Amino acid sequence: MVFANFVGGEWVPSVSRATLENRNPANARDLVGEFPDSTAADAVAAIAAAKRAFESWRLVPAPRRAEILFRAAQIIGARKEEYARAMTREMGKVLDETRGDVQEAIDMTYFLAAEGRRLYGQTAPSELRDKFAMSMRQPLGVCSMITPWNFPMAIPSWKIIPALVCGNTVVLKPSELTPLSALHFVKVLEEAGVPPGVVNLVTGGPAVGETLTTHPDVAVVSFTGSSAVGKLVNQNAAPFFKKVHLEMGGKNAIMIMDDANLDLALEGCLWGGFGTTGQRCTAASRVIVHEKVHDRFVEQFVARAAALRVGDGLDPNTQMGPSISDKQLQKVMSYVEIGKQEGARIACGGRRLNEGDYQYGHFHEPTIFTHVSPAMRVAREEIFGPVVSVIKCKSVDDAVAITNDVVYGLSASIYTQDLNRAFRAMRDVYTGIFYVNAPTIGAEVHLPFGGTKATGNGHREAGLAALEVFSEWKSVYVDFSGKLQRAQIDTENL
Ligand code: NAD
Repeated sequence: MVFANFVGGEWVPSVSRATLENRNPANARDLVGEFPDSTAADAVAAIAAAKRAFESWRLVPAPRRAEILFRAAQIIGARKEEYARAMTREMGKVLDETRGDVQEAIDMTYFLAAEGRRLYGQTAPSELRDKFAMSMRQPLGVCSMITPWNFPMAIPSWKIIPALVCGNTVVLKPSELTPLSALHFVKVLEEAGVPPGVVNLVTGGPAVGETLTTHPDVAVVSFTGSSAVGKLVNQNAAPFFKKVHLEMGGKNAIMIMDDANLDLALEGCLWGGFGTTGQRCTAASRVIVHEKVHDRFVEQFVARAAALRVGDGLDPNTQMGPSISDKQLQKVMSYVEIGKQEGARIACGGRRLNEGDYQYGHFHEPTIFTHVSPAMRVAREEIFGPVVSVIKCKSVDDAVAITNDVVYGLSASIYTQDLNRAFRAMRDVYTGIFYVNAPTIGAEVHLPFGGTKATGNGHREAGLAALEVFSEWKSVYVDFSGKLQRAQIDTENL
């Protein structure tokens, strides 16, 4: 099936007429669909549609905007299973996880649509008589959104819903690897009654992304993806003084103390390390274990990881799906080689799976490196695959220092029964997200999401923090004294 872009309320092909194939990463023989390989001209048309639509959408009362979004949440809810299956087919993660991805889009839509009846500002006393002071949120205009493939519906929802409730209009460019789930989300918004031009979808690669980051009519660029591309986006947008929101890579760590419940920690490391085939920005790609329990933990971790059933995510017996693409698989394989050359030891896995039906997909064994030092590249760089590096530590302070000693700062966690250690680590680890006795993954939509250092640029999505990205404060003073009053000067006028 050939799909289209959505521009100004119409489903249209790219002006180039070229398409990109979307194939099932578990089975390359399965063509999910063909999507427009759009050009800069398509992006320009979508930006123009969004600019036109902004003039009326910004004036729709926010509670009315919210009603449309509530309808959208209901529609997605009714189609959850259908969309989850389609997502597993295009992205590979197991059905439980794609159901979770769709659920996250539903949760986010309900949560932030409810802001339509709040979007609170402040009223404040004025320092002068007969003067009223308040602050209010205002929309910025056209927001462009560039998203990755690992949460193909959830991440577009994190950006689109707060942008819309605040009164902005949107141009979305999803990853070229997962356009279908993004298209499903946009289609639902259309059906729910979002007016033409308010949400636009342009599929394709960097050419579209570059136009969305440099076009003068774009006010906000919200990007989620790798730190390398995020840096480019930031540089490209900077000369235009755009508001740029970046959510990027991670090298997240689980710290396991000698007093931890090891069974619980084990479950957390399996889920955090190999859930979504290690392709979460919050994946636990480092496990830092106290030397007193290291060997005992590693023995069990290796046995359980080696037993994970790898396969097609649509098969209910599968516990871990494929890598998203051959390119991603090659990256995983190259890091396995790098780790070996650095002197780390493969405790399990380490090989591509390509026999039988595996040959049609991008499968790799769950892999654990031991004898890893914090200086090794496998302990410092984002691999984004089913590879976990286990590092020994001597104490909670040592574990915290190792956790902090990477360029990223997204998520971290500690397993301990000791409240003092838990609180110390919570305070001293410099990340945007922290867990106690749980893995590094599992964020909920009503709390801010994002990271420090090379993971982000100070903004957060989700929670009420998302409103800060997609609105701007306007402070308003109303003087009803009938005379000129000068702030900071007419101080005697009590
Ligand atoms: P990527 O950086 O390769 O691509 C992300 C998006 O940027 C895609 O839509 C891509 O087409 C687009 N793009 C590529 N070149 C561009 C350019 N020059 N200008 C504008 N856009 C361009 O990332 P990916 O492989 O899709 O996703 C994996 C990465 O995303 C990982 O690093 C992961 O950690 C990160 N991620 C971060 C979060 C977070 O919230 N922090 C969440 C999910 C994924």
